[in-house]
Amino acid sequence: PYVQDPITFLHLDQLLPAEINSRRAQLRANLETNLAPFVAEWYEKAESPGILAEKFRSLGITGLSDEKYGCKKISLMEKSLILYELARIDCSLATFYVVMFSLTAHTIEELGTEEQKVKYLPKLCNLDMIGCWGLTEPDFGSDASALETTATPVKGGYVLNGVKRWIGNAILSDIMIIFARNITTNHVEGFIVNSKSNGVSVENIQRKLALRIVQNGNIFLKDVFVPANERLGKGHTFATGANEILEHSRMNIAWLAAGLIAGIYENSIKYIRERVQFRAPLASFQLNQEKLVRILAIYQAVFLMGWRVTNLLKQGKANVAQASLVKGWCTLVGREAAKLGRELMGGNGILIDNYVMKALVDMEVIYTYEGTYDICALIAGRAATGVTAFKPGY
Ligand code: FAD
Repeated sequence: PYVQDPITFLHLDQLLPAEINSRRAQLRANLETNLAPFVAEWYEKAESPGILAEKFRSLGITGLSDEKYGCKKISLMEKSLILYELARIDCSLATFYVVMFSLTAHTIEELGTEEQKVKYLPKLCNLDMIGCWGLTEPDFGSDASALETTATPVKGGYVLNGVKRWIGNAILSDIMIIFARNITTNHVEGFIVNSKSNGVSVENIQRKLALRIVQNGNIFLKDVFVPANERLGKGHTFATGANEILEHSRMNIAWLAAGLIAGIYENSIKYIRERVQFRAPLASFQLNQEKLVRILAIYQAVFLMGWRVTNLLKQGKANVAQASLVKGWCTLVGREAAKLGRELMGGNGILIDNYVMKALVDMEVIYTYEGTYDICALIAGRAATGVTAFKPGY
C-alpha cells in the first residue's frame, strides 16, 4: 500500500461535509473523463475551446452562493472544492471558473443593484453570458488603487476612457466589469460595460508561456458611454468595491494552489514508483522520498489553511489580511512543491503529459495575479505589525 491521494494522509477529507465530499468524488471522475483528455492539446494550442462553457454546465458546477435569480446554490466550501478539482486537472480551467464566478458574477451578486442582478446573474451563472473583470492597467498592477481609467459623468450615465491589461476572458466576454476613477468623486468605482459598446476594443495577449488555455487581453476604452443604471450599486471606493471582491477571490486562489499540489503529488508518486534507476525504483532512494514528503507536507498545510479561511469567510469573520496571508503563502510554497515534482521526474518532468512543468509555470501566475506574493505579504505584515510598509520609493 502507498498514499496515492494526498488528502488521505491526514484524512483531510473528513473535514469536509459528507455530501460535498461525495459530490467532489463524482466531479473528479467526470473531469477525468470529460476534460482531462483534452487539456494537453488545448494548452499546446493556447485555445479556450468554445465547448468549455457547455462542459461546465453539463458538469453541474455553475451557480451562486445561494439559490436565487434562477441560479443553483453552490456553497462556499463546495465552490472551493470545485476550484480544487479543476486545478488538479488544469489551472487554466480553474482560472476560467474564478473569472466567471469569483470575480464577475460575485461582483454583481455583492455590489450590483437589484435590476443588475435580475438582468445578468441568471445568464452568467448558467454561462449563457461570459464576463470578465478589469482592474489592472498597463501602468497600475500592484498599485491598482491608483488606476487611471476615468469615468466622466455625463447626461444619462458615464463616459469611460482608459486601457486595461491582462484581463482574463476579455476576448470571449459579453460583459466587462470595469473599474474606473469617477472624476467627480476621485474614487474607483465599478461599471458593467457591454463588450459590444462603441469604443470598446480587445487585443488578445499572445505567446504566453503559462495558463495557456485562458485568454488574457488588453481592453481599450475610448469614449465608451455607460448608462447610469450600469454603474454598480454599491462599493463606490476602491476599498469597499474592488478590494472587497479580491478578498473573497484570494481565498479561492489558495484552493487553486491546493489542487495543483495534489496533481503534482499524484503524478510524482506514480512516476517514482514506476521508474527504475540503478536497478531500484526512484521511490526507494532516500533523497527522493524526502522530496516527495516535502510535497506531501506542503499539501497538508495548504489544504488546512484554505479550509480554515473558507470557514472563517462562511462565518463572516474573514478579512483581507487573512485572505492575503493565505493566498500569498500557499502560492509561495506551491512553487516549491512544483519544482520538487519537476525534479523527481528528471528530464521527463518537462513533458506536458507529466503535469509537473505545466503546474510549475501555472503556479508562477497564481503567485502573481490577484495581488502578488509581495503585496499579499505587505497586507498581512501591516495587520501583524500595525505599521504600513507601502511607502513611496522616490
Ligand atoms: P508590478 O505591480 O509591476 O510588480 C512587479 C514586481 O514588483 C512584483 O514582484 C511585485 O510583487 C513587486 N512590487 C510591486 N510593488 C511593490 C511594493 N510596494 N513592495 C514590494 N514589492 C512590490 N488583472 C485583472 O484585473 N483581471 C484579470 O482577469 C487578470 N488576470 C491575469 C491573468 C494573468 C495570466 C496575469 C499574468 C495577470 C492577470 N491580472 C489580471 C493582473 C495581475 O493581477 C497583475 O499582474 C498583478 O497584480 C501584478 O501586477 P504587475 O504585473 O503590474 O506587476
